[in-house]
Amino acid sequence: MPETFKHTFDTPVFKGDVAVPLGLYIDGKWVDGANKTTIDVINPTNGKTFTKISEGTPKDVDIAVAAAQKAFETVWGLNTTGNDRSRLMHKLADLMEVNEDKLAALEALDNGKTFVWAKRADIAHSITCLRYYAGWADKILGQVIETSEAKLTYTRHEPVGVVGQIIPWNFPLQMMAWKIGPALATGCAIVMKPSEFTPLTALFMTELIHEAGFPPGVFNLVNGYGSVVGQAIAEHPHIEKVAFTGSTLVGRKIMEAASKSNLKKVTLELGGKSPTIVFDDADVDQAVKWAAFGIYFNHGQCCCAGSRIFVHEKIYDEFLQRFTEHTKTLKVGDPFDPENFQGPQISQLQYDRIMGYIDSGKEQGATLHHGGNRVGNEGFFITPTIFTDTKPNMKIVQEEIFGPVCVVIKFKDDDDIVAQANDSIYGLAAAVFSQNITRALSTAHKLKAGTVWVNTYNMLYPNVPFGGYKQSGIGRELGEYALSNYTATKAVQVNLHIKM
Ligand code: NAD
Repeated sequence: MPETFKHTFDTPVFKGDVAVPLGLYIDGKWVDGANKTTIDVINPTNGKTFTKISEGTPKDVDIAVAAAQKAFETVWGLNTTGNDRSRLMHKLADLMEVNEDKLAALEALDNGKTFVWAKRADIAHSITCLRYYAGWADKILGQVIETSEAKLTYTRHEPVGVVGQIIPWNFPLQMMAWKIGPALATGCAIVMKPSEFTPLTALFMTELIHEAGFPPGVFNLVNGYGSVVGQAIAEHPHIEKVAFTGSTLVGRKIMEAASKSNLKKVTLELGGKSPTIVFDDADVDQAVKWAAFGIYFNHGQCCCAGSRIFVHEKIYDEFLQRFTEHTKTLKVGDPFDPENFQGPQISQLQYDRIMGYIDSGKEQGATLHHGGNRVGNEGFFITPTIFTDTKPNMKIVQEEIFGPVCVVIKFKDDDDIVAQANDSIYGLAAAVFSQNITRALSTAHKLKAGTVWVNTYNMLYPNVPFGGYKQSGIGRELGEYALSNYTATKAVQVNLHIKM
C-alpha cells in the first residue's frame, strides 16, 4: 500500500493538518508503481526533500488505460447523462471549496507560490473552471442539418474515449482543472500525469475525486518522470487524445510520439516570450502596475509572462523609473508570509537556468538595471530583475527565461512596434497600454498572439479561450472551444423515403 504524507501546517496564514496519498490512483484504488520505486519531492523554499511519491512505469500506464477504457465503455462516456456528470463535477467543486486552504497550503509547500496568491488565483480559478465545465456537461449539442425533404441528417458530438493529460509544475492545480473540466464534461475517461516536481495538489484532488463518487476508472493518475510515464502516455495506442502543457521541446516529442503511434489528437500549450507595449498616451501608473504583474506574477513562471516590455520613447524614462520603484516594493521570501509577493523558483535546475540567462544578458552587453541576485542562503529565490539597453538578437530578448526577468525596450513609432513585438518564435499572449481605443485595438489586431490584453494583464476566465500562435502551441483550452478537443463529430444520415 502506498504511504500517506501527513503534515501539520503552523503558519501565519494557515494552521491545520493535511493528509495526501502518495501512490498512483488506478481504477478507483491507490496503488504502488509496478517497480515499487519512488521519486523525491523537494521543498523549493529550502531545497530539501520532504516526501516521496510512488513512481509509475509504462506498465502502470497500460493498466490505467485499460481501466479507463472499461469505465468509458460501461459507466461513463455515452453510458452517462450530462446531468449525472454535471452533478459529480459540482460535488467535486464543493469539496474543493471546503478544502481551499489545504489546497493553497499544499501548493505553497510544493511549488513555492505564495499561499495568498495560490488561494486567490489558483484555487479560486480552478473551482470556477470546474463549475463552468459542469454547466456544459448537459449542453453538448450536435446540429440538425437540412439536406433534403427525404432525409433527416444530424451530427453528434461524441466523447473521443480515453484521453492522456500531462501537466506542468507552474500551475499544478489550475492546469489539472483546465484539463479535467472539458474531459469530464464531454464524458472522456482520463489518465493524468502531474509534474514530478509538484504532485501534491493533484494527489489531494484525486482523493476529492474519489470522495465525490466518480466511478472507478473514469479518472486515473500515474505519477512519474516525463521521459518514462509521459512518453508512455503520448505513444499509447489506446489513448485517443493527449493534452499537454509545458515546454516547446517536450511538445515536439509529444507530437512525434502521437504521430508514430495511433495519430491521436494533440493539443499543446507551450512557451512564450510575450510583449507588453506601452504607448505614450497610456496611464503610466496603471501600465507600470499591470506590466509588473505581467512579468513577476508566479515568479515569472508563466507561459504568458510579459517578459519583453516595449515603451514609447516619450515616456520611457518616466516609465522605467516608476517601474523600477514598483519592482523594489515586491517582497521576495517565505510563501507563507502574507507580506511576500514572490516565493522561490521551482527547482535548482530552473534557478540555474535563470541565473544563466542573467549572466548571458550581462555577457552580451545588456545593462543589468535592477536585481539579478540570489535572495537568502537556501532555497531558489531570485530578485525581480530588469535589463535595459538590449539588442533584438540577445538571448534574453529571444528566449523564454521562465523567471522574474524582463527587458525594457524603447520604441519610436506604431508601425515599428508591431514588427518588433511579433519578432518571436512564440505567440501566446501580448498586452497593449493606451487610452486611445482605436490605437489600442488596431495594434491588438495586428499582434500574432492567442490572447491580447488591453490595459490589463494575466486576466484569465474559464469561458475565454487560451492558447498560442506559432510555436506557443496547437489548439485552445478553456471556453466552449476546449470541448471540441474532447469530442469527435459524427454525421448521421437517415433516409425517410428515397427508394433505390
Ligand atoms: P517540461 O515540458 O519538461 O515538463 C512538463 C510536463 O511534461 C511534466 O509533467 C513532465 O514530466 C512532462 N514531460 C517531460 N518530458 C516528457 C516526454 N518526453 N514525454 C512526455 N511528457 C514529458 O517542462 P519543465 O522541464 O518542467 O520546464 C522546462 C521549461 O519548460 C521551462 O523553463 C519553461 O520554459 C517551460 N515550461 C512551460 C510551461 C507552460 O506553461 N507553457 C510550463 C512548465 C514549463
